[in-house]
Formats: sequence, structure tokens, C-alpha cells
Amino acid sequence: MILYGEIILNSEAVEIDRPFTYKIPESLNPKVRVGQIVKVPFGFRNKPVEGFIIGIKKEDEVSFDYKMKELLSIETEEPIITLDDIELIYFLKEKYLCKYIDAFRLLIPVGIMKGAKNKVKNVIVLVKDDLSDMKNPEGYKEIIKIIKENSGKYSKSELIKNFSISQYKLNNLLQKGMLKSLEEVIFRYNEREYIKDEDKELTGEQKNAIERILTSDKNIFLLKGVTGSGKTEIYMRLVQNALTNDKSSIVLVPEIALTPQMIERFKGRFGKDVALFHSRLSDGERFDEWHRVKEGKARVIVGARSALFLPAKNLGLIIIDEEHENTYKSEQNPKYQAKEVAEYIANKKGAKLVLGSATPTIESYYRAISGEIDLVEITKRVDGKPMPKMELVDMREELKVGNRSLFSRKLFKSIEEALEKKEQIVLFLNRRGFSTFVSCRSCGYVFKCDECEISMTYHKNGFLICHYCGKTKREPNKCPKCESKYVKFFGAGTQRVEDEIKKYFKDAKVIRMDVDTTRAKDSHEKLYNAFKKGEGDILIGTQMISKGLDFPNVTLVGILAADMSINIPDYRSAERTFQLITQVAGRAGRGVKEGKVVIQTYTPEHYSLQYAKNYDYEGFYEKEFTVRALMNYPPFGKILLINGTSKDENMLKDFMNNIANSISILLKDYNGIELLGPIACMIFKIKENFRWQIVLKGEFDLKFAKKIQELLYDNNKSNYNEIRISIDINPNSLI
Ligand code: ADP
Ligand code: ZN
Ligand code: ZN
Repeated sequence: MILYGEIILNSEAVEIDRPFTYKIPESLNPKVRVGQIVKVPFGFRNKPVEGFIIGIKKEDEVSFDYKMKELLSIETEEPIITLDDIELIYFLKEKYLCKYIDAFRLLIPVGIMKGAKNKVKNVIVLVKDDLSDMKNPEGYKEIIKIIKENSGKYSKSELIKNFSISQYKLNNLLQKGMLKSLEEVIFRYNEREYIKDEDKELTGEQKNAIERILTSDKNIFLLKGVTGSGKTEIYMRLVQNALTNDKSSIVLVPEIALTPQMIERFKGRFGKDVALFHSRLSDGERFDEWHRVKEGKARVIVGARSALFLPAKNLGLIIIDEEHENTYKSEQNPKYQAKEVAEYIANKKGAKLVLGSATPTIESYYRAISGEIDLVEITKRVDGKPMPKMELVDMREELKVGNRSLFSRKLFKSIEEALEKKEQIVLFLNRRGFSTFVSCRSCGYVFKCDECEISMTYHKNGFLICHYCGKTKREPNKCPKCESKYVKFFGAGTQRVEDEIKKYFKDAKVIRMDVDTTRAKDSHEKLYNAFKKGEGDILIGTQMISKGLDFPNVTLVGILAADMSINIPDYRSAERTFQLITQVAGRAGRGVKEGKVVIQTYTPEHYSLQYAKNYDYEGFYEKEFTVRALMNYPPFGKILLINGTSKDENMLKDFMNNIANSISILLKDYNGIELLGPIACMIFKIKENFRWQIVLKGEFDLKFAKKIQELLYDNNKSNYNEIRISIDINPNSLI
């Protein structure tokens, strides 16, 4: 029987983003399987290119074409992806409007694409230990004993080196067939030993939560519990339970390189059963971890969002820790949201999905209280201690008394006290030198767009601009509320904080943790350990210090400018601020001493700060939910972002205008979808490329999104090389 392969080519080009049919030569017929990597001739010159078999068809299922080409070769005898994976690829393509190849690349480790191989070594194994054939059995007794204990572990040269065994004697034993040399795959994972992490005696709340998750007939859970309420212990028990039932688990953390502590605990409890998967692995390490998982040698996968696509054997559980973090949304194609993909996979495989957080997203909590998913709550900290006290400091008052430094009098004094008592301090600045909103330092007034409720952004040509809808205002020279002249844009970086600290507190040892100081591999972990060991008195940092760090000697946390987070031009800025403050506060008072949090701001009355200060999640949710409903932001409406980049700004502008025109014609058939823009992006140029955007807001479905995508591609056919466009549904930000 003649078979035909449906092949996806390994190429970026949009024009060939579809399956191509190739005839399978008879010689390859018995070997061909869906999921293999193959080579096919392509184009006018029949250049051999790599591709993936996504389907196999019989003669009556393909339309006859006398020019149909033949498959050249099969590159991987074993299929590298399964039929389930192929369905997942279709799902990703549909939902995130990506190309086939983008989806394939998520599922296949880079190493395999580049032809990486297993690393092998020849190890010596014992065949028999009966020495009666040897001329001088006594002389070999010791060697045989050593090899018996280490059979299959060492190569010949390692045996000679480690145990001072004579090469002559080893060769003799090999010749006589007492030993043999075997090729063994070795894995490049980190062999480091971790301190054993013992099971804890569970609290009542922990027991109930576990019981509920294991017995509920729902399969998706929101585990809501304050920092320190023992969620991680719950995760580990659920993982243990899965292992006992011979099932694998995937545990996603926001960015693993940033949470050394989580690794310590999982490795400490499950040892070699754990596969680690994050952005800083080398291709070789990635390839090895992938194999360990595929072969079922590692059944606990801890990793960043892409770990979701590992070929876990018999998957029983997916955990997404800190589910509110924005790193679960991919910024590259496919622009997937890991929570949605996890849900798809969990449903498909009959696995349980647990979303954990102290501060769930509005979307997740909404689903939980409406009963769509199961809400499991833990209300108390394991140690029974109260959460650290939060104090809001009004920076307008500081200005009034002439204090223009980065530190309020209150924070200054608290730092002094903590240093004196030899306690540690964490100072937090949520963004590194990147900020453009404009506010009044006397009364706290912030310039916002009347339409979008979004902070307006300062532009170099003397205008303020709304980056959602494009509305502009002239740069103000005084405050419309209090008439003060002290109106300017906001910004300070971690470097400046460090400089000021060094100026006022000369003897304090400072560790700074931001994008600049953590570029090198393992540098994050080194700084983390240094501070943990007490090699620093003050830790200054950005976002990256807000999560998962546990330092018992930290008693003071200072949030230097809560305004930076409140005024990010994004509809989620209030939610992010609430989350951030709650997270950062969780870093104080983890040990026996009581902790304190000082929050500096020009708008202490802002609801995100008021609710955060009182640890009132429900209160915050109620308020934020009404704002979202009013403005038609998610979970009510969706946002679709169209982004265009080009070196030629005029061409890009024309193109985006044309698109907007075509879209507004299309929108006549729809109700309640708003078109915002086109407008230059907040970061309007990256390297040589100008950036423009169009935002669609409202209730739309995938069919509508797909229509928009087609419209984009049709419009862009002629200048495809000059303009790059991308499309993103519910993006992380509109920057
Ligand atoms: P979360 O993940 O909710 O922030 P953790 O699981 O990290 O909380 O727990 C906080 C601290 O309490 C950790 O040091 C952990 O080892 C400890 N812990 C957790 N559960 C228990 C328990 N049942 N008994 C004693 N200590 C516990
Ligand atoms: Zn003012
Ligand atoms: Zn606006």
C-alpha cells in the first residue's frame, strides 16, 4: 500500500505554515511513524529540508498530484513526539494563533533539533568473579572486589586512577572475559548533594487541603494561602502521593533560576527523581533532562513554564506555584498562557491541576468563587505568627519638611535601628530605572487617561500620551489639583539606592540584586547565599527579590516607591501592586524576630495599598472586580494586541493605519469590541526598529481573533520583509 506523509517543514516562513504532502517510498513504508523527524525535498531546487511527520494518509485520503515528491529519509527512528503531542500542537496553534513550527519547537528540545547526542562512556562491568582460571588468583582478588562494588560505574581509566589498579591486570581480566566494557549513557545533570528535607508533621489545615484535593471530583484547584502557610509542604505531599501511585508530577515555578530555595527543598526530598528545567540549562543539560523524563527516570519535574511540555510519563499532577506571576505567559510565539495549557493537559490526561498563591489573579479567584474550579484555602501561617506589620509613609509629607532623599525619616530610622541590632534589611525598588509617569510631588496627583483609567506616559516632545488609546495632553507645568509647580516624571534605579545607602550608612555591607548583577550563570544563587550567610546587611533589589526568598534574620523590608508599580500603564497595575506588596512583606519576619514593612508612596490612599496593608485580599478583589467590570477589562472582556515593527517608521505608520481601517470595517458586524490606536508603543523603538500597536478590547472569540490574523497577513503580503507583525491575546503588558 502506498502511504503519504503530512509534513510540517522546519522553517520560520509564514507562507509555508501548513502541512505538505509527500509520498513515502516503499522502502521506508514499514518504518514510517507519526512524530518522526524526516528530510524532504523542497522548492524549485528540491533542496533537502528537515520536517516533522504530523500525519500519515492512505491513497484515497490525498488528492492525486502527479508532481508529488517523495520523502528522502527518516532522521529519527523513534518518534520524538506522540499523537497526544500533535493534538497539543493543534490546540496551541488554534488558541494562540502561532505557526505549526513554533508549537513544535516548544515540544522538542533544542538539542534534538541541533542533533545533540547522548553523552556516553565505556564502563567496566563484572561478568564473573570466579578466579579459578587465572594463573595467580590471589593477585586479582582485590581488583575483583573493587569492581564488584562499583560494577558499571567507572571507565577503565577512572578505575586505574581512582583505585590505583594496574592497567596490565585490568586488560588481563578483560581478555579472559571476567570483565567487559559497556557503553553507558551518562547524564549531565548536576550531581550536587542536597540536605535531606524531611516530611513535616502536617497541620490540620494542611491535612484538610490535601484530603480535599485528593478526593474532590473536580480536577482543578485554587490553593489560596498566605506566605508561610505551608503550601510548598502540601505540594510535596501531593507529589509524593503521585509517586506512590507511579505517576509523574510537573511543578511549575515562576523562574526557577530565581528560586534556589524551592530547588533545595524538592531535591532534598525527592533526590534524583527530580528533573530541573529552566532557561539557564545548556543544550546538553536540557537534552539529558528531557531523556530522563521521557524514560521515566525522573518523575518529578520542577521547572519554569516550558517544563509543561516535557514528555512526562503517566502524568498525574501539575502544580503551578505563585499562579499570579506574569512569567507564566510567554512573550514569544506561541504566546501561550501556561495555566491554560496546563488545564488542557490536565483534562486530557486525567491529571489534577493545583494553582497556588497568596494573592490569586482576579481571573482565577473569580473562577474559584463562582464554583468553576475548587477553592482550597489555608488561613494561618504554620508557625502561627501574625503577618508582619505594614506601615504606609506619605512622601508628600517628607517633601513638606524638605526631605528630598530616597528615604523617608521613618525608613531612615528603621534602617538605623535594624543595623544597630545586627538584623538584616531588604530594600525593594520594583523597576530598574524605567519609569515615565508624571505626578505631583505635593499632592500626589497622577496624570491619567480619562477614557482608559491608565497612567499617561511622558514623551520627549513635550506631550503626555495614553498608551492604550493614543489620547495626548500637553506636558503640564503645574498640578491641575493643587497648582504646585513640583510636577515631574518619576524614576530612580537600584544603583542610585545603593549610592545613597553608602552615603548615609558607610559601614553597612550592601548586596545589590538586579538584572545587571545577576547576568552570569549562578550569580543569583551566589548573591542569595551570601546574604543568607550574613555577608550583607542590606539587600537592594528589584522584582526578583520579591518571591520565594526565606531569610530568617530579615526584620525590615522597605518598599521605596510603591507609586512605580501603581502607575505602570497597564490595567493590572493595581492588582500587581497588591500582589507585589503582599509578596515582599512575606520576606520580613520569617525567623523568630518580628518583622516590619515600610511602604513609601505619594498616594497612600490608593486602594491597592490600603487593602494590601491590611492583608485584605477579599476586600481588594471586590473593589478591583468592579473596576474591571466598569472598564470591560478581563475577566469581562479580552484584549488583543497587534504589534508591528519596522525600520521604516512611515511605512509602518501607513500599514498600521490601513489595518485599523480594515478592522473598523470588520467591527461593524460585531458589538462591543473597541478599537484603540494605532499608536506608537510605549517603548517606541528597540534597536533600529520602530514599534506601533493596535489594541482591540471586548468580548470576542477565537474565530474573531483568527479573522484578524488573516486580515493582518493579507494586508502584509507585499511588504512582508519590511514589517513584522505579531498578535497576542491578553498580553502581559502593552509596553
Ligand atoms: P508557603 O509555600 O505557603 O510560603 P512553606 O511551605 O514554605 O509555605 O512553609 C513555610 C515554612 O514552614 C517552611 O520553612 C516550611 O518548612 C515550614 N513548614 C511547612 N509545613 C510545616 C509543618 N506542617 N510543620 C512545621 N513546619 C512546616
Ligand atoms: Zn498637586
Ligand atoms: Zn486612553
